[in-house]
Amino acid sequence: MTSGGESSVFENGTRFRLFAQAPILKAFHRPETVIVSSPAGSVGPGPGDDHMYVIDPIGKAFAYGLAQNLRGDPLYLMPPWRGDVFPPAFPDVDGHFDHIDPEEPEFEAAHLFGSVRFALDVWEKYFGHPIAWHFRRDLDRLELVIQRNLLENAFMGYGFLEVGIHETTDGWVEPFTLNFDVVAHEVGHCVIYSVIGVPDSGTASAEYYGFHESSADLAALVAALHFDSVIDELLETSHGNLYTRNLVNRIAELSRNSQIRLAANPLTMRDFVHGWSDEHALAQPLTGAMFDIFVDLFHEELVARRLITQNQEDLSDKLEDSPDYFRVIQPMFDEAYAASPWEFREALVASRDELGMLLAETWRRLSPDDLSYAEVGDTLRAVDAQAAGGRWRKIIDVNLKRRAIGLVSAGPKIKPFGPRSHFGLPRVFVPARHEACCARHLHFAGRMGARNSLARNRVCAP
Ligand SMILES: [Zn+2]
Repeated sequence: MTSGGESSVFENGTRFRLFAQAPILKAFHRPETVIVSSPAGSVGPGPGDDHMYVIDPIGKAFAYGLAQNLRGDPLYLMPPWRGDVFPPAFPDVDGHFDHIDPEEPEFEAAHLFGSVRFALDVWEKYFGHPIAWHFRRDLDRLELVIQRNLLENAFMGYGFLEVGIHETTDGWVEPFTLNFDVVAHEVGHCVIYSVIGVPDSGTASAEYYGFHESSADLAALVAALHFDSVIDELLETSHGNLYTRNLVNRIAELSRNSQIRLAANPLTMRDFVHGWSDEHALAQPLTGAMFDIFVDLFHEELVARRLITQNQEDLSDKLEDSPDYFRVIQPMFDEAYAASPWEFREALVASRDELGMLLAETWRRLSPDDLSYAEVGDTLRAVDAQAAGGRWRKIIDVNLKRRAIGLVSAGPKIKPFGPRSHFGLPRVFVPARHEACCARHLHFAGRMGARNSLARNRVCAP
């Protein structure tokens, strides 16, 4: 993994070439060479190692999760895939994968594996230990599936990560395997399943689902900020004014002017008091609050390093919701950044790591049952008190209050889960019981309430 200003932390790791952001963006049309933690030589064809492997399946008509057989009986499809696969990506003689050209068909597989490992490395750094698979009781390895039948989605489930495609309005197909933000978002879900877990039946709150999506977006944002090219481009285009619409607060860009979500968004919990219908929308107030906290952490670093003055920071805070913000604040950043670009970079890396630490420590302490944003906020304050002596308390309080987090809660769910939901189909559940009925079939009893009722009916993977 390269890292802002700290390249080659894994001296004996494995090299991959990754697009740090969607390759349709001009600044990122060439992949960046990174080194991930897997020791060179430990990753074989696939790529695959003891923890995970990529497959490019031939004729995999259905995504994993709930499906039906020809008679209409419910099936719960589980990895491993036992059908044919396209040729895997092979390492070079030294065990690296950076020799594969983006034009070659195996590049997608290498990019998917490298992206997942890169994002895991980032979060393992903040947690201080490897992320254990949440499905480890039943499966040893995560199956990473290049799924060309899966339109506009990618999802992490029990033992698998399936990554689909995006079709542009003019019919061009862009595989999500090459979109680092999309893959890192799914790794974020995986981290949350591992460190927080899945709620018991009946105790999954609305805000648990919103929290999951928000955390996955923040996990992707922090991971992307570990590419040298992302930090360079962010600072070159914003001069440190992170509220400009930029590559970091536009999550998972699909083209030069569209993205899946904005981290810098105006939604508050008051927008959801009367109900919610999509967990990605419900995530937005929490993501927005955490993004604002990140910007404030960065400003604190700039002041502490004498790169902007306290008065300038106060002015920035005061004008935050004002139409004058960019007119007044941008020239201030232009001047300060031009004088000390390298120091701005160091301040950005420091605040990125403060955000990563705050998030990891907060997630570590949460439990999935009846999870609320108010509890997330209180835990954030407790982490700040213990880990930073309360240094960021004011920043946390101001930004949570602006989003009404801790003041009001989400209302009832007013629509069923839609096709883009990561939760609407019983893809994500923890088997309560596991009995092998034969070498190939596992019986499962679901644990996530009514929407998994079919999974509870002792159905078999084919
Ligand atoms: Zn998601």
